[in-house]
Amino acid sequence: MADPITVTVSDPTTGEELESRTFTDDYTIICAGNRYVTGIGPTAINARKTRCIRNHEFDGVGKNGNRTCSRCHEIKRQERRARAAVKQEGAGTDV
Ligand SMILES: [Zn+2]
Repeated sequence: MADPITVTVSDPTTGEELESRTFTDDYTIICAGNRYVTGIGPTAINARKTRCIRNHEFDGVGKNGNRTCSRCHEIKRQERRARAAVKQEGAGTDV
């Protein structure tokens, strides 16, 4: 087994630490914000996935470098709006 490697991703402007991970079974190369992971660990397995949990194709990259799915983003946005609407409706009724 390879020696563990800790990879830290920081914001170049503020120096804020965005992500820090220690890899033991994975080999990670970070190049221009893209992560290339090969190996047998869970990070490597997830890195090979091309689809989100709802089986949509990943189609974007978030601020932290994670791949994103715009369709799931839209679904979550609609769920938030629906919850907010229910909250609004209920606001005056429990007096
Ligand atoms: Zn999705």
